[in-house]
Amino acid sequence: MKGSVAVVGGGIAGIQAALDLADSGFKTYLIESRPSIGGTMSQLDKTFPTNDCAMCILSPKLVETGRHPNIELLSYSDVKSITGKAGDFKVKVVKKARYVDETKCTGCGTCTEKCPTKVMDEYNAGMSKRKAIYIPFAQAIPRVATIDASKCIYLTKGKCGVCKKVCGPKAVDYEQKDKEIELDVGSVVLATGFKPFDPSLLKQYRFDHPDVITSLQFERLLSASGPTQGHVTKQSDGKVPKKIAFIQCVGSRNPRIDRKHCSSVCCMYATKESIIAKEHDSDIDITIFHIDLDHTHFAAPLRGEMVGCVCSFQRREYR
Ligand code: SF4
Ligand code: SF4
Repeated sequence: MKGSVAVVGGGIAGIQAALDLADSGFKTYLIESRPSIGGTMSQLDKTFPTNDCAMCILSPKLVETGRHPNIELLSYSDVKSITGKAGDFKVKVVKKARYVDETKCTGCGTCTEKCPTKVMDEYNAGMSKRKAIYIPFAQAIPRVATIDASKCIYLTKGKCGVCKKVCGPKAVDYEQKDKEIELDVGSVVLATGFKPFDPSLLKQYRFDHPDVITSLQFERLLSASGPTQGHVTKQSDGKVPKKIAFIQCVGSRNPRIDRKHCSSVCCMYATKESIIAKEHDSDIDITIFHIDLDHTHFAAPLRGEMVGCVCSFQRREYR
């Protein structure tokens, strides 16, 4: 029986699983498809129900994961296949070309400053721009640059090359190729996370309007590291909104789009985001439109109490 473990997914669940395994003495491979670990939690401003700073909780774990002698971090890597049986798995992993040598890059950011190409920034949920060569966020682990091959002028048209010229340690490598590696492990932990529902599929909610945003976008607006440095402003005119409406259960509890389940989180983050928005500006008038919700979630944080995070809706199906 092999003693090593592959953890697939470098969000908070995968990170904690990898740290617990590694602390117990297992050699652990943490595989993450994005350029750095951290997942969705790295985009959150605060966490429910205590409203603690998300990055303050996450950041020490990122550093510990990056430095742990029992963890081998395979970021910007996809799992191609898993074969075998319990105790003896083979995991094929594709390490995608970053076009930057991880062993040479110091994360200085000079290339990012000089790159002329601006593209949509996923970290800020599309509400700001990043460069074609980028480090996803300030606390990213590993702190190395990655070139977005589909947007880079050199990799698409053979022109530019600025990042290579300005990189002191000569880390930029336009010839880098995807690399396939095979891991022998005894167990696999799947912590692959989730994709948010695309609200543009439900036309009635007018997601085409600049002032209709997702909860993750609102989270970035609340965050001091976000596109407005934590100022709650409208995307259309940059002014502070007088009223905010939260619409619950978009993309869940809706049999018409074959999504009967409860998201199990939207009561909680709407409560949290409402309280934080009021902390930013107490004059903002907030309304939450809901089908129904567990009032314990709403009342308890206002009373300063802890509540369980498993909503009673989770196990039900709505028809
Ligand atoms: S690629 Fe070079 S310039 Fe860019 S962050 Fe890394 S070391 Fe700095
Ligand atoms: S070569 Fe590509 S990544 Fe580098 S500076 Fe030019 S556009 Fe940016």
